[in-house]
Amino acid sequence: MNTDCYICSGKIKKINDFSFKCKDCDYYFSNLKPGVGQDVSGLKFLRKKNFRKIIDVFLKFNKKPKILEIGSGDGYFLEECINYKLSIIGSEASQKSVKKLRSKFNNQIIKLRLPENIKKKYNNLFDVIIFNDVFEHLTKLNEVIKCISRVLAKDGVVVINLPSSDGINFKLSKLLMSIGISEIYNRLWQKDFSSPHLSYFNKNNLTNFLLKHNFKMVSDGYLDTVDFNNKERFDSLFKNYLFKFLLKIFLIIFFYIQRILPKDNIFLIFKKN
Ligand SMILES: [Zn+2]
Repeated sequence: MNTDCYICSGKIKKINDFSFKCKDCDYYFSNLKPGVGQDVSGLKFLRKKNFRKIIDVFLKFNKKPKILEIGSGDGYFLEECINYKLSIIGSEASQKSVKKLRSKFNNQIIKLRLPENIKKKYNNLFDVIIFNDVFEHLTKLNEVIKCISRVLAKDGVVVINLPSSDGINFKLSKLLMSIGISEIYNRLWQKDFSSPHLSYFNKNNLTNFLLKHNFKMVSDGYLDTVDFNNKERFDSLFKNYLFKFLLKIFLIIFFYIQRILPKDNIFLIFKKN
């Protein structure tokens, strides 16, 4: 185990058998096995609403951007960009996902497994390169930033949306873990899923990490985490009916108060310095 933080070279503290934290910059990371593909579905309404929010923000930088999405999953972001009549190329790492997306979006999909030479696949520059819930699943983040940097147009922006370790969910899950309930913490990392989370950033350490690569943050915002129609995805967490019931009550309360709580899902927009 490397004892220095990947982000700031600070000292590492062990959290549990699979996760660690940097004592200096609060960057969390796991030793879970990286994978491709996508496990969480059924969030169509909420995700598309969040995507429109992000699109409205990056359009302020360029009204007619050429967009590359890294990891397109179900293709909801592609659908929204098409609704906005924007030029977009989507990508996926596995042949299976590429095939599925191509059945709907044809030649707008390329097979890409970062870090790799994007120019070989698509010889053009992009004004927007976006990671939608993807960055936290990737290894070799230094190389990832280097390779997208090479295909980013002058004045182009990189958009990263991801779960934040400063969010109320993450903080509460750690609190619960400290009293012996680790289900929520493990679920947030997508432990035992085919593509678990490898890192948990917050706004500060992600900004510092991109700064190392000569990017500065030019905009940021947050996304809603819970909506009434996505409660089912937590249903399988507990077998105990009392826990199931309490979780349901909690989610309903949470829906109303999430706006004033520390944000679970954030997006940051970066430009080359
Ligand atoms: Zn650190």
